[in-house]
Amino acid sequence: MNVNEIKGIGEKTEKLFNKLGVFQVSDLLTLYPRDYDVFRDAITISQIDNEAVAAVEVKLHSKPVLRASAKYKIVSALVTDVNGDKIQCVWYNMPFLAKTLLLDEVYIFRGRFRRDKVGKIIKLEHPDVYTVEKYSEKLSTMQPIYPLTHGLTNNMVIKAIKQVFSEGIDFSAYDYLTESLMDKFNLISYGRAMEQVHFPEDMDSVIKARKRLCFDEFLIFTLALRYMKEKTGDISNSYIIHTSPETEEFIDSLDFNLTSAQMKVLREINEDMESPTQMNRLIQGDVGSGKTIIAIIALLNTGFAGFQGALMAPTEVLAVQHYENISELIRKHNINLSVGLLTGSMTAADKREMYAMIEDGSVNIVIGTHALIQEKVKYKNLALVITDEQHRFGVNQRRTLQDKGYNPHIIVMSATPIPRTLAIILYGDLDISVIDELPSNRLPIKNCVVTMDYRPKAYDFISKQVKEGRQVYVICPMVEASESIEACDVISYAKNLKENLDPNINVEYLHGKMKGQIKNSIMDQFGKGEIDVLVSTTVIEVGVNVPNATVMMIENAERFGLAALHQLRGRVGRGKYQSYCIFVSGSKSKDKLERLDILNKSNDGFYIASCDLKLRGPGEMFGIRQSGDLVFKIGDIYGDSDMLKLAYEFARQLEDEKISLPEDKYNILQNKINRYISIASKTVNL
Ligand code: ADP
Ligand code: MG
Repeated sequence: MNVNEIKGIGEKTEKLFNKLGVFQVSDLLTLYPRDYDVFRDAITISQIDNEAVAAVEVKLHSKPVLRASAKYKIVSALVTDVNGDKIQCVWYNMPFLAKTLLLDEVYIFRGRFRRDKVGKIIKLEHPDVYTVEKYSEKLSTMQPIYPLTHGLTNNMVIKAIKQVFSEGIDFSAYDYLTESLMDKFNLISYGRAMEQVHFPEDMDSVIKARKRLCFDEFLIFTLALRYMKEKTGDISNSYIIHTSPETEEFIDSLDFNLTSAQMKVLREINEDMESPTQMNRLIQGDVGSGKTIIAIIALLNTGFAGFQGALMAPTEVLAVQHYENISELIRKHNINLSVGLLTGSMTAADKREMYAMIEDGSVNIVIGTHALIQEKVKYKNLALVITDEQHRFGVNQRRTLQDKGYNPHIIVMSATPIPRTLAIILYGDLDISVIDELPSNRLPIKNCVVTMDYRPKAYDFISKQVKEGRQVYVICPMVEASESIEACDVISYAKNLKENLDPNINVEYLHGKMKGQIKNSIMDQFGKGEIDVLVSTTVIEVGVNVPNATVMMIENAERFGLAALHQLRGRVGRGKYQSYCIFVSGSKSKDKLERLDILNKSNDGFYIASCDLKLRGPGEMFGIRQSGDLVFKIGDIYGDSDMLKLAYEFARQLEDEKISLPEDKYNILQNKINRYISIASKTVNL
């Protein structure tokens, strides 16, 4: 039913509701209050806090005065409380008050009070006026406060929702829980929750209502994700791979010791690869925790066992870096395996040659981009696929592999840490390993958040670092100057920087629109230390590893998400030198600086991801929340994590048939899930 069918909603109001995303009555009912206004006991004037909404019991000190200006009719009145303290009150365009406010009558005035610098209460505008009797009826009740848009008042929303309720909706027809399940899981009914979330009796009812509605959101989300994922189930392991002595030797001769977290994760991988079922594992670890070496070890074991392994990176820059890194290690450690590279920008002839080598098995380990799982690539015996820096190894990718007759072990490596419950829901079919420790030789990165006027100082600092032999990244959000967007761009910034720094300092730039080969060559030169300062877009956001780089300067930092900024910062602090991150805000707004301050205060990716999740929600972070319809309207992954767990538990029991729903209830649930899926599948590439 459309909102314009609600009595009292005309075309103008409908448009205003539309602005808030409210089109259907169901949208209106899920326009949840953002807060509640509680009517508390009246207090005296001296007890009022600054900026507080309060109610005071007062009498008029003198008769109200009515004045008329060109624009308004203004009523003002001086009132006193029992202690004799006074406040001046004014109302605009409510001339009738001049008559109805009576001397000697006791009133309750309610409004938001402000104090001036010396603590004196500033003239109170538009207090609500109640008789003592009327106020006592309101006492302890809670008025919903709705999200609004210009022209739509809170009262208009309240009226519309009351109207819907008064028409008597049978909420039980939309409730998939039976009485006994509500008892079992300590949840109230959907109808009661709807009523109490909008017009609660007390705080306790609000809490219970929220719990039920969060549970619903999380459950539908969980079940929909489970349905959307192809149920692979356990696939038997066709590639039994043991740790080989050569790998042990390799680990022993590395020039660092693996951290105990790395060893733990490695053991988990090894156990999987020799177990009766195929591996499906997510490895989470903060930037710089050393995920690559884990991947390399697993690839070596695969190669030594006589099978092929593939490492897939999201960007060509990263693929090339991995390729060079692995080739170098193999050379250095005299390992008798061959490594190949396959990326989109290779020439057709080079590609053909690589295809042939992959097919006849003359390469054991192949590194590349998505090109690795494309049609044309045929493997001799692909036993392990690792994707680096991906949030998820998509169902589609796995299916592509399966369609080609491969059932390799799968490892997904991600540097965006998320809470375990959410991970279980999002990656329900993956086992999860966490590298929860950084190598011990790292010095914590020193951060600062500054505005643009700090640049000269930053450039001095950069010059000093370069003189000491270190290297520097400067990140700009744009590739080239734009008329419509005011933000730094790589090309003009690099030019400018060259003019500002000593001519001996070699400044180059890098961005995603450059040709693959040029990009690779720039990255190569930077890796070798031939370039001192690299001005770049976020193409280097993930994975790039140049341990000699010690300064990361991010221009227009306010334009990036926290998780992205943390990733960028993760490009420095990867070696033994003290590293620095300079977040330059193009805006002086307090909100923006405060957000950046989260990064200033913490280098902990888990903590930052949790802040990012709170600020942006999980969907946006993981590409699920691309449609407004998929937003959690009431649930908060952190604040309501108990409900998230409960929903997950419920979903599992439902799947294991420990819970069963009668047919009508089952259909209600299924409809909700289907609706979610139909929206999600239009907008999300799962
Ligand atoms: P990420 O987890 O961000 O992918 P990398 O795997 O690129 O991190 O590792 C970052 C750097 O740390 C690399 O230079 C790598 O050689 C080094 N490294 C990895 N493990 C250790 C360790 N246990 N001790 C010291 N340095 C390590
Ligand atoms: Mg990495």
